[in-house]
Amino acid sequence: MPIATVNPATGETLSTFDELGAQEIERRLAAAATAFHHYRTTGFAVRAELMNRAAGLLDADQETIARTMTTEMGKPVAAARAEAAKCAKAMRWYAAHAERLLADETPPADETADAGAVRARVRYRPLGVVLAVMPWNFPLWQVVRFAAPALMAGNVGLLKHASNVPQTALYLEDLFRRAGFPAGCFQTLLVGSRAVEGILRDARVAAATLTGSEPAGRSVAAIAGDEIKKTVLELGGSDPYIVMPSADLERAVRTAVTARVQNNGQSCIAAKRFIVHADVHEAFTERFASRMRALTVGDPMEETTDVGPLASERGRADLEELVDDALRRGATALCGGARPKDRPLGWFYEPTVLTGITPDMRIHREETFGPVATVYRVGGLGEAVELANDTPFGLSSNVWTRDPAEQERFARDIEAGGVFFNGMTASHPALPFGGVKRSGYGRELSGHGIREFCNVTTLWYG
Ligand code: NAP
Repeated sequence: MPIATVNPATGETLSTFDELGAQEIERRLAAAATAFHHYRTTGFAVRAELMNRAAGLLDADQETIARTMTTEMGKPVAAARAEAAKCAKAMRWYAAHAERLLADETPPADETADAGAVRARVRYRPLGVVLAVMPWNFPLWQVVRFAAPALMAGNVGLLKHASNVPQTALYLEDLFRRAGFPAGCFQTLLVGSRAVEGILRDARVAAATLTGSEPAGRSVAAIAGDEIKKTVLELGGSDPYIVMPSADLERAVRTAVTARVQNNGQSCIAAKRFIVHADVHEAFTERFASRMRALTVGDPMEETTDVGPLASERGRADLEELVDDALRRGATALCGGARPKDRPLGWFYEPTVLTGITPDMRIHREETFGPVATVYRVGGLGEAVELANDTPFGLSSNVWTRDPAEQERFARDIEAGGVFFNGMTASHPALPFGGVKRSGYGRELSGHGIREFCNVTTLWYG
């Protein structure tokens, strides 16, 4: 894939970038290693000051960087502004809390007495240079939710961003530089995915985090495994959205639309499979399809646009294949199911609601990365759980029920990294984020996230 900014709303190539050569990569690896040597000894107060400064700069740049993101990957500009604001908030959160989250721990003396120590402690020390391989869908947020905790922990970062968001990638390097982080602490590497192996195998790189597709995750994890290097993987999802009879149906429908079409439907934690109890199935499906049909598809720079284009031509083709396969095998489209006729340019796709899904359809098991919802009907809680878990993925899940006993059953039985009741899945700095099964492993955000790239060191004093 060439490294380029191509406007998904028009298909026009706006700028192209040369990939870094071997010498430039070497120079940046050396700079990262040198930076870590000094940066690891800085105190939390210094790091927090730099991080807060980065947050302030990001706030000031909000409009410009929002427009850059929209131009590069097509999200509605209002959502792009919100993404920038969320990043600044996460930076401030980690600036405020990193010291507490990484404070030394003292195991109870009576538990360590027979370890022969007079006293013992656990210290969270930084690991070193961390390579971040990141996707285009939340081009600021995915990076910041790695970078803010990693830098606050004393690590340094190398970013290999998706090839279609180079300007956002370069902005991030510039942001941390302007905030005052020492040279080499956060560098963007404009390279294609083929260069990842060499960088990851370099002895100066200690660990890697990847957010993206399953094949990319598998490749990076295999190389890191071969090198015995730590990884965190945040991969795809096909989150269930379960609606039980006690749900507030109006809110459940309204939230369902947002949960599905946020970011033009290209979110790993978007609700993708709507599993609805028979008692409310008809009412839910009618209202849901009617709201999906009413969404405004259009130029993502317009404030009134609900759904912009998909980020790439390939992405739209993949989505079309899934929908066409389902329709050929007997699914029904209550709305959408095709490209909008009034938008010949760009990679638009109509918000789509499909019913009559059967296990032989690809869409039953694969992730839909675009504004396409599948709606299922179930007879009870057991069936809902079974269907929710009938997926290779396990990122998050949404459950609408006001019944506490039902909530407990779902909390116990759903195979996912999150269960969100009466609302939609969203990431928050204070809450762990990540999945199980093919959605990956490890956690980002909260104390769990910042400790992923730490050397958990036992200090034993005789
Ligand atoms: P992708 O093709 O896997 O790309 C993600 C990143 O990995 C890009 O930087 C890409 O570089 C790189 N990459 C691709 N193949 C690689 C390989 N073999 N070795 C090393 N690096 C490689 O994914 P995408 O299409 O951009 O993003 C969509 C996927 O990401 C969806 O499955 C979505 O659910 C998932 N996602 C997960 C989360 C989460 O938190 N769990 C969040 C957002 C997205 P190039 O651009 O140069 O190819």
